[in-house]
Amino acid sequence: MAVPIAVRHLFTYRLGDGLSVSPQRGQRVLVPFKKSFVVGYLAGVHATPFEGEVKDVKEIVDSEPLIGEEAWQLAEWMASYYGRSLGETLDLFFPTLLRGGWKRNVHRERKRKSKVPSEFLLKPTELPSQYTVEQTAALNIMLPAARERRFAPFLVHGITGSGKTILYVEMARAAVQQGRGVVVLVPEIGLTSHVARHFVSAFPDRVALLHSKLTSRRRWDEWDRIRSGQADVVVGARSALFAPLKDVGLIVADEEHDHAYKQEDGVTYHARDVALVMGQRWKAPVVLGSATPSLESHANASRGKYRLIRLARRVSDRPLPDVDVVDMRFKRNPDKRLSWLSPQLHKAMVDTLERRGQVVLFLNRRGFAPVLRCMDCGEGVKCPHCDITLTYHKADRHMRCHYCDHRQDLPEVCSECKSTSVAMAGAGTQKIEEDIRALFPQTGIARLDMDTAQSKKRRFEIMEGMESGAIQIAVGTQMITKGYHYPQITLVGVVDADLGLFLPDFRSAERTYQQILQAAGRAGRGEQKGRVFIQTMSPDHHAIDSAKHYDESRFYETELRLRRQWGYPPYKRLAMIRIRARHEVVGGEGALAVLQATKQMAGGKGVEVLGPAPAPLYRLRGHYRWQILLKADTSKGLHEVMEGLLDAKGPRRAGYEVRLDVDPVNML
Ligand code: ADP
Ligand code: ZN
Ligand code: ZN
Repeated sequence: MAVPIAVRHLFTYRLGDGLSVSPQRGQRVLVPFKKSFVVGYLAGVHATPFEGEVKDVKEIVDSEPLIGEEAWQLAEWMASYYGRSLGETLDLFFPTLLRGGWKRNVHRERKRKSKVPSEFLLKPTELPSQYTVEQTAALNIMLPAARERRFAPFLVHGITGSGKTILYVEMARAAVQQGRGVVVLVPEIGLTSHVARHFVSAFPDRVALLHSKLTSRRRWDEWDRIRSGQADVVVGARSALFAPLKDVGLIVADEEHDHAYKQEDGVTYHARDVALVMGQRWKAPVVLGSATPSLESHANASRGKYRLIRLARRVSDRPLPDVDVVDMRFKRNPDKRLSWLSPQLHKAMVDTLERRGQVVLFLNRRGFAPVLRCMDCGEGVKCPHCDITLTYHKADRHMRCHYCDHRQDLPEVCSECKSTSVAMAGAGTQKIEEDIRALFPQTGIARLDMDTAQSKKRRFEIMEGMESGAIQIAVGTQMITKGYHYPQITLVGVVDADLGLFLPDFRSAERTYQQILQAAGRAGRGEQKGRVFIQTMSPDHHAIDSAKHYDESRFYETELRLRRQWGYPPYKRLAMIRIRARHEVVGGEGALAVLQATKQMAGGKGVEVLGPAPAPLYRLRGHYRWQILLKADTSKGLHEVMEGLLDAKGPRRAGYEVRLDVDPVNML
């Protein structure tokens, strides 16, 4: 029995007479656990009578397994790769209402028929009348894999507006013609999502949209539609991978570089990586698409593991917007309150509004970590061993590296320009919204960030406002750079590109580059050419300068060289051990104990152990947090150490929690 708890071994129960004639793997079973009951998954039957104390199975919930053989095997792979229990992993394959303490039966009436409102369907004018040369060439390469039912990984590296979505739709058509199901992953999904609209229009009745705002009951309905075969094209966020399709003939991951594909709690899987394993099992093509592929996928394409498909031009040869980099060093706005706004961007906003264009201001505040930088020349402070921005620790007024725990004193003057204004920086979206309202009192202004996007109604209003033109300036976090397609947006301003650049994360340059190009992708999608302003104190940084010139190869080459030099993916494999505790001393001692154990296991396996270091967000939700970073030459070495650690009972004591994160994405 696989029980959905964090313990990684299986449990044995007695199957009383008359409960099941032929028990099958994957059936859900109600069993006593601790002092109550829990729904687990039947993994197998002992061949010989089991010696020892066992409790009785209370009830078999499903007369036949609701999970197929391929899904079961995928769950086994995931559990082992990510170091979680099989039961927890299997839970991912079921809607929440069928998990855990519930023993609901699946045989029931579905209440509502799902229906997509017609305004979300594409208008015929929005569909292309013929493919571009590049699209045709891409389809000639990819379609045979879908028709011949074989595993084939593709990386579609196509600039924003090059028409990737239609490739996904055509691949899906081919898979559906084979009588197979399709999974389309998007980082975030609402009904308004561009990709969702394309799929709903192409496959009106057979699409299941697993968007984030579905209630548990509606999610169960959709799950049911898929399981019963009524829907076989599943469009959704990362969990759409686990939809109960009978057969999978294509998996698409749009915006494959997006970090939303990483699940950060529970089973910390990466949907893009799981998609590839799944494609192998089902013998199906896997299409990863992006304008700004991750370094990992880029490297896999260069190594020939993925077939690279390039779309280098926008459809109808619409020009890419010009990118202006505004150097924010040394010249602060005389109006102190407005120090975040350069005269250049201000002027461009005025011009754009006069021409009735729309403006998007983008500010990256996600995972905001306490880092210092010189307010005059922009210089930050990096770890001499890891090339990572040091994090400021208020309690002991120290700078620390949260990879290797290197420490140093706070600089009093900037090492570069000797200025004394070394400080934590950055205005938030809210302040920017206020300032903009004061500057442009007659203009429709909206803010889109974590706070405002919580409300469905608010999001819808913003969307409508953008569509109708009632909103002329939108201020937002990275949310705003994703999948927007409003032809009237002609100006995009990246307010402070350095916020992302100075995050203590080895991917900070990659992310900054991606965000700038994605933001630029929002501009000039209509008739009028767009323009982009990037405000930064690091105008010469390779992430910013390559984005400015759309120089992809320069960015990837420079970044790969640095990754190799400092030992990060795609050259090394990483795992993060996270330790957290309510009490600082207990947690600190725990972290040291885990370090000891890990170091012992790592000997001679080509695995480097760094830390323990306080996490950059050291206190979070009432916990103190530490991390130990494992850097390995191979995945095999990494997993040997991990297995050892998971089996060891030693370091796991009361008072602190240890979690493993394989291929970590969030380093904060
Ligand atoms: P991407 O995802 O690569 O940024 P999209 O798939 O969103 O690009 O396509 C951008 C726009 O171009 C969409 O409005 C789409 O309908 C349109 N489009 C795509 N292919 C063609 C084509 N062959 N001819 C005309 N318009 C097209
Ligand atoms: Zn300085
Ligand atoms: Zn370091």
